[in-house]
Amino acid sequence: MSQQLFDLSGQVAMVTGCSTGLGQAMAIALAQAGCNIVAIGVSDPKETVTAIEQAGQRCHVIHADLAQVNDMAKLVSEAVEAFGQLNILVNNAGIIRRADAVDFTEADWDAVMDVNIKSLFLLSQAAAKHWIGQHSKGKIINIASMLSFQGGIRVPSYTASKSGVLGLTRALANEWAKYNINVNAIAPGYMATNNTAALQADVQRNQEILARIPAERWGQPADLAGPVVFLASAASDYMHGHTMAVDGGWLAR
Ligand code: NAP
Repeated sequence: MSQQLFDLSGQVAMVTGCSTGLGQAMAIALAQAGCNIVAIGVSDPKETVTAIEQAGQRCHVIHADLAQVNDMAKLVSEAVEAFGQLNILVNNAGIIRRADAVDFTEADWDAVMDVNIKSLFLLSQAAAKHWIGQHSKGKIINIASMLSFQGGIRVPSYTASKSGVLGLTRALANEWAKYNINVNAIAPGYMATNNTAALQADVQRNQEILARIPAERWGQPADLAGPVVFLASAASDYMHGHTMAVDGGWLAR
């Protein structure tokens, strides 16, 4: 019974930005739970495709720069053409730019907001229109951050975008829960990926971060496997608008 609750056999999940890092780990976890995957991103997600195939599933790759796409409905229809349906959307693609707030450029503001929040909203809207139009259920999982809850330092557009992800997760849940569309978010803590390479390489910041994490380690991409499968599955059908921290206890401090 409990295993059935987490079974995603025959479902289709669209994951943005899964060539590497957290998106890659979540795409593989969803494939291992039974999903075919639609991978959206700029670079070739070669390693991810191999791992998905090793899990016995298929991966359809759509090359798209989400900061530039102006027709998200096309991505949804390409996914449906590839696999006949779409059930899950994981809005993972994200970037970060670091500079003191007084020196922060408009270009760095726009670049981060375009990928992290604008594309997340427009792609969610396209998926929801599809599900509402055909009276089917859907699951949207947004990737938030510790900076959905905290201010951070030298990353103003990232903090604004990720705080926006938390708010938008609630706002969209308020409108779409009645259609059996679950909109929730995962807020990863400090995870060892390209996104945090600069922090990991900074000896002092690395020590400060580790000292504050109750689990006493950086998170690994695979730490999101269970949470993403849970939020994609029937096990979370009555969860709406929640941002779930997966942070080694960081927010508990
Ligand atoms: P990452 O290794 O840098 O991966 C980012 C992914 O986003 C890449 O696959 C990249 O795809 C994709 N992407 C970036 N810009 C894109 C665009 N314009 N169009 C399409 N895809 C784009 O970073 P990560 O750490 O795995 O981060 C994944 C998500 O988790 C992000 O939203 C990030 O903010 C969030 N997060 C990370 C941490 C952490 O500690 N690592 C903590 C909290 C939240 P391409 O390679 O194809 O460009």
